[in-house]
Amino acid sequence: MGISKNDYYTIKIEDIGDKGEGIGKYEGYTIFVKDAYVEDEVKVKLTKVKKNYAFGRLIEIIKPSPYRIEPPCEVYKQCGGCQIQGLDYDKQLVFKEKKVKDALERIGKLKNININTIIGMEHPFFYRNKSQYPVKRDNEGNLKIGFYATRSHHVIEHEKCYIGNPVNESIIEIIKQYVHNNNISIYDEENHKGLMRHILIRAGHFTKEIMVCIVINGKDLPQKDQVIKALTTIPNMKSISVNINTEKTNVILGHQTKKLWGTDYILDTLGNITYQISPQSFYQVNTVQTEKLYNKVLEYAQIKGDETIWDIYCGIGTITLYLAQKAKKVYGVEIVKEAIEDARKNAQMNNINNVEFYTGKAEDVIPRKYNEEGIYADTIVVDPPRKGCDESVLKTIVDISPKKMIYVSCDPSTLARDLKYLCENGFEVKEVQPVDMFGHTVHVECVVLMRHCGLASEK
Ligand code: SAH
Repeated sequence: MGISKNDYYTIKIEDIGDKGEGIGKYEGYTIFVKDAYVEDEVKVKLTKVKKNYAFGRLIEIIKPSPYRIEPPCEVYKQCGGCQIQGLDYDKQLVFKEKKVKDALERIGKLKNININTIIGMEHPFFYRNKSQYPVKRDNEGNLKIGFYATRSHHVIEHEKCYIGNPVNESIIEIIKQYVHNNNISIYDEENHKGLMRHILIRAGHFTKEIMVCIVINGKDLPQKDQVIKALTTIPNMKSISVNINTEKTNVILGHQTKKLWGTDYILDTLGNITYQISPQSFYQVNTVQTEKLYNKVLEYAQIKGDETIWDIYCGIGTITLYLAQKAKKVYGVEIVKEAIEDARKNAQMNNINNVEFYTGKAEDVIPRKYNEEGIYADTIVVDPPRKGCDESVLKTIVDISPKKMIYVSCDPSTLARDLKYLCENGFEVKEVQPVDMFGHTVHVECVVLMRHCGLASEK
């Protein structure tokens, strides 16, 4: 039998894919359908057919899923920011838990793992403390400041972003006026010409302090007094800067940031610690959930007071300082120089003296520290970017053999890959705690507690 391109099929959607698409089955074939939701019954037209799977275009919803809701955002379908806003929030959480379990079983080959119920958000809207807006001119020459559409660099504007901070819209309006009044040129990716590229806005969740950083393909911003004057009318504005990015790249920020007004950072608090955050530093985007995440790390660490801990991929030292309140000594390592400068200031500002920070790639610093200085750790915390830990980092962790490992991850697939390696080399997974940091998107965060079972030395 089989299935054919351009033919129509009726299927029931049973799962959600990595991009938020619906997944159904037809005679053994897996069919991916954009804009279809779990438990929808849909008619699709196949647009691409491969050996075991196919892509279908949604033609008709024959019977809508009971989990469909009316997404509040008007541009939700076009904008690439949220993928599952049209799905009931509780069902989003079910999906995320399953995503973690599936990855650990399929990629990690980990069976019978203790996965806790996901920690969801109480108010899953307007939660992001950071937004990065691309600035573009469309084909008709109109100025567009918004978010990229899915898999494209087409900018979709919105009146109100339902996961962003409501202050962003007034800031974007000011920037638009400034561009218009002063004829500021806009960056064009095709010919690498034009000045303004991106707007980064960050707001402290508890302090409400606001930072605006304008990313430019050039050295300076013309008539900058005008934009400063307008931006400083926004309550709690603390930091205005330009970031210089003259590279032909998709990476948003360049290496140099110049302060235009105020401080070159904002402050925010997590638990009882105050952090300074620079434009270039990483800071978790969902502050309310971050506290829950870090408290879980602290709970898993079960610190008695005499421990030496390594916090690998430490950013501005957020987890490091959380742990240092109880541990004997905590070391942090991080690749971004500005983040380590923030981390050191943060330690000082909070009178925490039992920490030490190193700038560099974890894959260089950790093996070097181990091979040359024989570093020791009772507990190791890792919180890598989406691509997970470099194998040389994992190998050194196996050599160090800490009693406890805590893995904080924002990507279940690379988490599963790394846990597999660690479990094959002397560790066992005790508990997995998924946390929803990114409501309405397909992303999910996890904290994993691992214990060393003494096998590494027997290999
Ligand atoms: N633990 C921190 C940061 C986690 S995000 C927090 O919770 O805030 C991951 C961090 O890893 C980022 O700060 C990023 O700059 C850093 N990073 C990325 N690649 C790295 C590498 N190869 N070596 C060290 N740090 C790296």
